Amino acid sequence: MSGNLILILGDQLSPELSSLRQGDRMADRVLMAEVMAEATYVAHHKKKIAFVFSAMRHFAQDLRDDGWRVDYVALDDPGNTGTLRGEVERALASGGIDRVLVTEPGEWRLLDEMSRWPGTDLIADDRFIADRHGFVRWAEERKTLRMEHFYRLMRRKTGLLMEGDQPAGGRWNFDADNRKPPAPDMEVPAPPRFAPDEVTQAVLDLVAKRFPENFGTLEPFGFAVTRADAEAALDHFIEHALPHFGAYQDAMVGGQPFLFHAVVSPYLNAGLLDPLEICRRVETAWQGGWVPLNSAEGFIRQIIGWREFVRAIYWWKMPGYERSNVLDASRPLPWFYWSGQTDMACVSACVNQTRDEAYAHHIQRLMVTGNFALLAGVDPHALHEWYLAVYADAYEWVELPNTVGMSQYADGGLLASKPYVASGAYIDRMSDYCGSCRFKVKAKSGPDACPFNLLYWDFIARHRTRLAGNPRMGQMVATWDRFSPDRQQQVRREAGAFLATLDQ
Ligand code: FAD
Ligand code: SF4
Repeated sequence: MSGNLILILGDQLSPELSSLRQGDRMADRVLMAEVMAEATYVAHHKKKIAFVFSAMRHFAQDLRDDGWRVDYVALDDPGNTGTLRGEVERALASGGIDRVLVTEPGEWRLLDEMSRWPGTDLIADDRFIADRHGFVRWAEERKTLRMEHFYRLMRRKTGLLMEGDQPAGGRWNFDADNRKPPAPDMEVPAPPRFAPDEVTQAVLDLVAKRFPENFGTLEPFGFAVTRADAEAALDHFIEHALPHFGAYQDAMVGGQPFLFHAVVSPYLNAGLLDPLEICRRVETAWQGGWVPLNSAEGFIRQIIGWREFVRAIYWWKMPGYERSNVLDASRPLPWFYWSGQTDMACVSACVNQTRDEAYAHHIQRLMVTGNFALLAGVDPHALHEWYLAVYADAYEWVELPNTVGMSQYADGGLLASKPYVASGAYIDRMSDYCGSCRFKVKAKSGPDACPFNLLYWDFIARHRTRLAGNPRMGQMVATWDRFSPDRQQQVRREAGAFLATLDQ
């Protein structure tokens, strides 16, 4: 008897996956494979590799329990060819296979490769809300592309937080209520941690043995690796953190990596949770009076707005988007992005937390590590490879537009309407990092000056012509122009001296 081979990738761990829906439990076989090519195309964080392999192994078991025949190739299995193509060819050689079915991979590199595989049907991935082909038509009809317009379409399409044709509460966006600095006495709920079972422990041993030099602390390991545990993590977030999510979304506190964030992106991106289902649960919590509208709206906007928007931009602009660099930034990535060893307390805290948790929340990524790299003129491609490696939720379709577009302005403003740059005052307002820093956040020049202050004005000066034409940056350019020539020279000299220390 013959049937199809359904290849399932590490970020396709969804029981309702389109390839499984087309398959037949009685006739088809599922293939899942841990391969070196995918585990090493960037040097992923140890926890990220462990999360993906363990979640894959648990998902394979769920499929077997559900009546599927699953061939699972573990990394250390004898005969593992090291590539997805090699594993598919090995399965085909055993005979009895008509076609290979694959839900479209989330990365252009793999889609490009698989579209040349013989006998393979690529099936659209319908775990997203926006249709990526429809997005291109929508985007090409517009003069400027703004997430807010796209987000309203998604609200109407899903009906989330809608009252008829109007947004609940009379406003589409409650961001203005969502910028509170951390409060000194605020109590933060710790997200649940899940003790490794035997399957996860075997994966942890494998990762410790095979990837000893990779970045990151492997244990303790507390990620959910099953759908049930990912749902428990979501329930915990909705009950304990979501009510404060909106207000403190931008806050940063030393020793509190998660604050009121959901920490669900690894689960969502691997397929353990479904984006629309999550949003419906959050909407229900708001309807039940459990969470305020600014929190529910802020959260739903991240998922049906930003997450969908960056994915659509990725597919629209790939290939080529990964080499965007309109600001001609070429500095190598400073070593302290790996070691955490820098006197800048904010950068050190974010890198050390990333090393330990494979997690940083959005403002830490955007306004600390991303902001520093942009101000310092770091090569956006090198930074992209860093973000892709170090976070448990990082897959190119979501990481690349966030890094190259939102954080580094390397696409010239396609995704973000202005460069996300800020001096130390912003970090001081939104965090408690500056209190323990060797630099003085209020110092604008001299040996104790906060590097973000020096680099901020140096950035404005370096890109003056481009920024003067941006309505949201014009005021900062005008402020720079009003600095006396002496002050301008001092800032540039001191910024130059600081930047030179990065290259040593
Ligand atoms: P919460 O703050 O609780 O938000 C809820 C959910 O909204 C997230 O789980 C995520 O699915 C979604 N979301 C929020 N913001 C974004 C966004 N800008 N783009 C896409 N989804 C968003 N997110 C990734 O999932 N993978 C990445 O590789 C990634 N790389 C990033 C790189 C940079 C430079 C920046 C600035 C942001 C990046 N983000 C990435 C977006 C965001 O930082 C993470 O989604 C978020 O920190 C995940 O933590 P959380 O689940 O606690 O999110
Ligand atoms: Fe960061 Fe500057 Fe504050 Fe130090 S003083 S923590 S470098 S913003």
